[in-house]
Amino acid sequence: MSSIDPSIPIQPKLNDVNDNLPKQGEDPNNSTISSKASSFYEEIVKKNPFFAAGGGLMILGSALALARSGIKSASAFAYRQLLIDLEIPSKDKSYLWFLQWVGKYPNRSSRQLSVETSFQQHDNGSVTTNFQFVPGPGRHFIKYKGAYMLIRRERSGKMVDMTSGSPFETVTLTTLYRDRNLFKELLMEAKELATKQNEGKTVIYTSWGPEWRPFGQPKSKRLLNSVILDVNIAEKILQDVQEFMGNGDWYFDRGIPYRRGYLLHGPPGSGKTSFIQALAGHLDYNICILNLAEANLTDDRLNHLMNHIPERSILLLEDVDAAFNKREQTNDQGFNNSGVTFSGLLNALDGVTSSEETITFMTTNHPEKLDSAIMRPGRVDFKQYIGNATLYQMEKMFLKFYPNEFDKCSEFVDYCKSVDKDKHISTAQLQGIFVMNKNDCDGAIAMMKQVYK
Ligand code: ADP
Repeated sequence: MSSIDPSIPIQPKLNDVNDNLPKQGEDPNNSTISSKASSFYEEIVKKNPFFAAGGGLMILGSALALARSGIKSASAFAYRQLLIDLEIPSKDKSYLWFLQWVGKYPNRSSRQLSVETSFQQHDNGSVTTNFQFVPGPGRHFIKYKGAYMLIRRERSGKMVDMTSGSPFETVTLTTLYRDRNLFKELLMEAKELATKQNEGKTVIYTSWGPEWRPFGQPKSKRLLNSVILDVNIAEKILQDVQEFMGNGDWYFDRGIPYRRGYLLHGPPGSGKTSFIQALAGHLDYNICILNLAEANLTDDRLNHLMNHIPERSILLLEDVDAAFNKREQTNDQGFNNSGVTFSGLLNALDGVTSSEETITFMTTNHPEKLDSAIMRPGRVDFKQYIGNATLYQMEKMFLKFYPNEFDKCSEFVDYCKSVDKDKHISTAQLQGIFVMNKNDCDGAIAMMKQVYK
């Protein structure tokens, strides 16, 4: 057994002594700390296999994380430099145009589809149903003029369009930056397609909350001469509208609001609405119909709607007397739900400001209920009575349904003349009789005699 003699001092080895000595110019304290740290590192990290492996992994992990974020920012940079996005929100006009266009586009790859069902009513009364498949929410690809485009249709889960109750949507188109000009071409094509579909047709807009929305499919234009009004009335109105439309500069030069109001009044079924629709078609205009007796229509909504009429549209305010009942809100004939007041209507009429011309037609069956305040220029500039069938109209309508039946026409008109003094046959009633006796003018005369004794 060896023992150490405490009287003999322990001599450190020369090497150890040298190692511990501060080198020239070195802070002696520092050197001690660094030497301690390095010996600690030797001891713990190098000699402990677990720690050494962990450290290695840590370094590897950090390197990978760094590389990943590098790749991410590099790809984001590349995305920004190489690709370009175009967002089309569902509130924008081109949204529907685009969906219609892409629904018909042949070079498309879509796995998620949405259906849009439309009905088309033909002149003979039959209805055809059309289904159009458009890209549904998800990702789709198209190749447009040699460029690949990614289409993402996304639905916002939380935000809802308060006017329609449907969720907000966006369509985002992505393509190479160098192909960015194709976006405009594509949207123009979509717009042209939409315009083409409406060519020769009249779009009827109705109010949907504070917005105007097309009501059903665009309708074939109604020919102006298919609505038979009394002598010269249609010509007079048409001439006035055309003169107004051709005088924009006159209004702008004088700072006068470029608008004109027409009031057609008379009994129901005399062709007021039909004439306005035919006039819109003749002028190649669309028509925005608003019924003032409509439930839940308020002054604010009316004002907003009247100031946001789609371009090239005639505004038609039906049952305008609903807002006029001796300067009070009307409460008869079930119109008590309408919140439109007399002053609200006048304000809306006065407040219409548009860079384009505004043509407003108003109809009423009760002109006596209208307050004289509406007759001010700028509100109503042209007033016309459209009444029950006159002999002139009876004759014209008969010959339209039964061409060349002049003798029968005289018989029919003579009979009407003898009974109509107090019966007041409306043109809608006449049309009803003719439609029921399509190719049978004798049947029409017999029916007339039966109904109006
Ligand atoms: P109003 O608006 O005066 O109540 P409408 O325009 O709604 O009348 O007419 C109702 C129906 O009667 C329509 O189908 C329309 O085609 C027909 N009609 C009414 N008057 C005429 C007319 N003068 N000429 C041709 N059709 C008419």
